[in-house]
Amino acid sequence: MNLRCPDCGRVNNIPANAGNIQFRCYNCGALLPQNNPPSADTSEAVGLIGGAVLGGAIGGPVGAIVGAIIGAVLGRETKGAA
Ligand SMILES: [Zn+2]
Repeated sequence: MNLRCPDCGRVNNIPANAGNIQFRCYNCGALLPQNNPPSADTSEAVGLIGGAVLGGAIGGPVGAIVGAIIGAVLGRETKGAA
């Protein structure tokens, strides 16, 4: 699997069966994110909740609904990028 370095953006090729070992970026040595990406369902749920909270802060019930939709889309895109 590939992990993108949060520091320099270099994509590091990490063995998928490495378990919970934390790797460092080959390029700059920064710690890479843990090798256990959240499931699709989790990321979508987080997007829904986050979007609803954000929307609620902006525009009441209607904003919460719009925010939830945006959050679901963001959650899907996060899954796709990982
Ligand atoms: Zn790096």
